[in-house]
Amino acid sequence: MLAAVLQGLNRLALEQVPVPRPTGPETVLVRVRSCGICATDVKAIKGHRTNVVFPFIPGHEASGVVAEVGPAVEHFKVGDEVICQPSGYCGFCEWCRTGRSHYCERAFTTGGDGPMEVWPGAFAEYMLTREQCLFHKPSAVSFDSAALTEPLSGAWKGVIGTSQMQLGETVVVIGAGSMGLLCVMVAAAAGAGRLVAFDPSPYARKRAVELGATSAHDPRAGDPRKAVWEAMPEGPDLVIEAAGTIEAVNLMLRLRRRGTRWNLFGITTHETFVMDGGLTHFMEGRMDASFGTTPLAMTKAIRLMELGLVNPESIITHRFPLSRIHDALAAMNNPDRIKIMINP
Ligand SMILES: [Zn+2]
Ligand SMILES: [Zn+2]
Repeated sequence: MLAAVLQGLNRLALEQVPVPRPTGPETVLVRVRSCGICATDVKAIKGHRTNVVFPFIPGHEASGVVAEVGPAVEHFKVGDEVICQPSGYCGFCEWCRTGRSHYCERAFTTGGDGPMEVWPGAFAEYMLTREQCLFHKPSAVSFDSAALTEPLSGAWKGVIGTSQMQLGETVVVIGAGSMGLLCVMVAAAAGAGRLVAFDPSPYARKRAVELGATSAHDPRAGDPRKAVWEAMPEGPDLVIEAAGTIEAVNLMLRLRRRGTRWNLFGITTHETFVMDGGLTHFMEGRMDASFGTTPLAMTKAIRLMELGLVNPESIITHRFPLSRIHDALAAMNNPDRIKIMINP
């Protein structure tokens, strides 16, 4: 089969490799139909990830069709259309049994960031996974949308699961890249009142408004706090930082008023920020954070897509066959790029 194999730093090569076989218990071979490119894939190529051992096939936002099932697979058969959760888990530890399988210390991933046990990913014609990681794809959901279940589930987990956004609340989303736009779509679908997005890119701001933001602003132009209070005189009930920069975290803190909940959703780098203890105390602020996904969040995301409440396909700006993965990676630098889909 054709696969994009990372042979070393910045050395991604298209190669013919053997199709893996599902010989282990509960393993399933999936013919990959769609796989999104995520910033963490680029991090793997550039050497900014700790769980990459060369040679390595990246790609973890996948959907496809079951091609072969291994021993003891009970819930899937050849020909089933499936969505792949990129993280597997033991199912028996305290974290797993309390619904927090993304903390599982025996976790593994198919191509993704995080766990140290890494299986080959989905920038390939076929990928191997475990039955527990698969979900049936509703027929109304396209393979491209289905491939975005994991990022959509992350947005659901942050906005609804963790920060418990309520109908009519005022929401600010900082950063309108693919994750920020998915947060905007989830918040809009959940009945956000006023919904303000921030992004320095004019294209991202335009997309944010098209996808449900009531207004979108440049965080580097003028006073962002003034812009928010003009757009929502009552101030934000909830601020989601979905940009991943310390500047965005500091902007989030500047947008507080009493009772605001805020979510450290995007930042993954180890940078510090300063908070005034007494001010935070008397504001009764609430800080949440959210990363990764869970079977609960995946299930919710699939329901949102199936019911037409969120269509993640609307953030796809580019599509490439696997044979053009290098063009796809180059397009990651395009200013009008949101989500790039590989169709192996
Ligand atoms: Zn991802
Ligand atoms: Zn576990």
